Amino acid sequence: MNLHEYQSKRRFEEFGILVPHGRLAETPLEARLIAQELGGPVVVKAQVLTGGRGKAGGVKLARTPEEAETVAGQILGMNIRGHTVRKVLVDPAVTIKQEIYLGITNDRLARMPVIMCSAEGGMDIEQVNRERPEAIIREHINPLLGLRGYQINALAAGIELPYDLWRQFQRVAQGLYRCYTASDATLCEINPLVITGDGNLLALDGKMSIDDNSLFRHPDLAALRDTEAEPPEETKAREAGLSYVKLDGQIGCLVNGAGLAMATMDMTSIYGEADGIGPANFLDIGGGADAETVAAALRIILADPNVKAILLNIFGGITRADEVARGVIQAFSEFETDIPKVVRLVGTNEQLGRQLLEEAHIPNMITATTLSEAAQKAVAAVKGV
Ligand code: GDP
Ligand code: MN
Repeated sequence: MNLHEYQSKRRFEEFGILVPHGRLAETPLEARLIAQELGGPVVVKAQVLTGGRGKAGGVKLARTPEEAETVAGQILGMNIRGHTVRKVLVDPAVTIKQEIYLGITNDRLARMPVIMCSAEGGMDIEQVNRERPEAIIREHINPLLGLRGYQINALAAGIELPYDLWRQFQRVAQGLYRCYTASDATLCEINPLVITGDGNLLALDGKMSIDDNSLFRHPDLAALRDTEAEPPEETKAREAGLSYVKLDGQIGCLVNGAGLAMATMDMTSIYGEADGIGPANFLDIGGGADAETVAAALRIILADPNVKAILLNIFGGITRADEVARGVIQAFSEFETDIPKVVRLVGTNEQLGRQLLEEAHIPNMITATTLSEAAQKAVAAVKGV
C-alpha cells in the first residue's frame, strides 16, 4: 500500500523529521483559505499515488491566495498518468539552496535494507541510477545493528553535505530508518530533502510504501488507505479476498492458487506470443473459494475492456469444483456475455461441476482437460478461430 505525500510527511514528522506545515484542500476555495491562513507564497501539490507530479504540472507555486485558488483549480481534476487529482496539499513555499535525495528500501539480493543518498535530489532517482549510478551513495543496514552513525556520516561525506548540517542529517536519517522499521515499510523516501535558505534540512516531498502483509498490526496505517485513489478493480478484488494484478493482454484468467495462476499465465503467453496475445491479469481466487468469490472475480475480469476471452483453470482441492461451477453460473447469469469461456475443471467433485455447467447452457463455453489445451483454445478464441 502506498501513502500519499501528505500522509508520508505527517508520519515522518512523528519521527522527528522537519516538514512544511501545510494542509489539504479538495476545492480551489479551500486552497485559497489555507494560503490566506499560512500567509506568504505557497506550493499547491496534487495528491495522487504516482510520482513525477512536478513534471506533469501537478506542483505549482502561488504567490497570493488568489493565485493559490487559480492553480488549485487547474490541478484539481487533472489526470496524472491515469490518476485523477481529488486533493491538493497547500504547503508554505520555501527557498531552496540544494535538493538532496534520501531513501530507504529493501535490497533483496543483500537481504538487508539499504539507505541511499544523492546530491542530485528532486530528479527522478531511477534516471540518476541509470545514467550516473556513482552519484548515489549506498549503505546497507544490518537489521541487528541498526543504522550506525558512521554510515550516516559516510553518506554526508559522499554528497559533500556542508559540515554544519551533519548533526541535523544524522537526525533525519535515523528518523527515517526508525519510521521505516516501525511502519513495516518497503520504501521510505524523501525527494527532495532540501537545504533551506535559513540553513535547515526539510523534507519537501515524501513517499512511503507499506508491506500489505503487515497491515493487520498497523491499524493506524491501514486506515490511511485511500481507496478512491487506487485502481478500482484492485480495491474490489481486495475487498472480495482475491489477489489481482491487471496486465495488458486479452485473456482474462481465473485460477485458484498463485502457482497455478502463474503457470496459466505462462502457458497463455507461450501459445499467444506469435500473435501478441497474453494474459489480461493475474488472479488467484485462493483456496476454498465459494460461489460468491468466483462471481466477484468474474465481474472484475469482465469489467476490463481488453478481455476477449476468459480462461477458467480450477484445480479442485480444498476448492470444490461444483462450488466453482455454481459461482461461474451465477456470474454469467448476471452478465449474459457471449465472450468465449474456456473452462478447465479438475479435482474434487469435478464430475458434478461439469454436469452443473453443462446443464446451465452458458453461451460460448469451451471445455478443456489439460492446461496446454485450455491455453491453446483461449488463444484461438481471441483470434476468432
Ligand atoms: P514530484 O515531482 O512528484 O516528486 O513532486 P515534489 O514534491 O518533489 O516537487 C517537485 C519539485 O518542485 C521539487 O523538486 C522542487 O524543486 C519544487 N518544489 C516543491 N516545493 C517547493 C517549494 O516550497 N519551494 C520551491 N522553490 N520549490 C518547490
Ligand atoms: Mn519528489
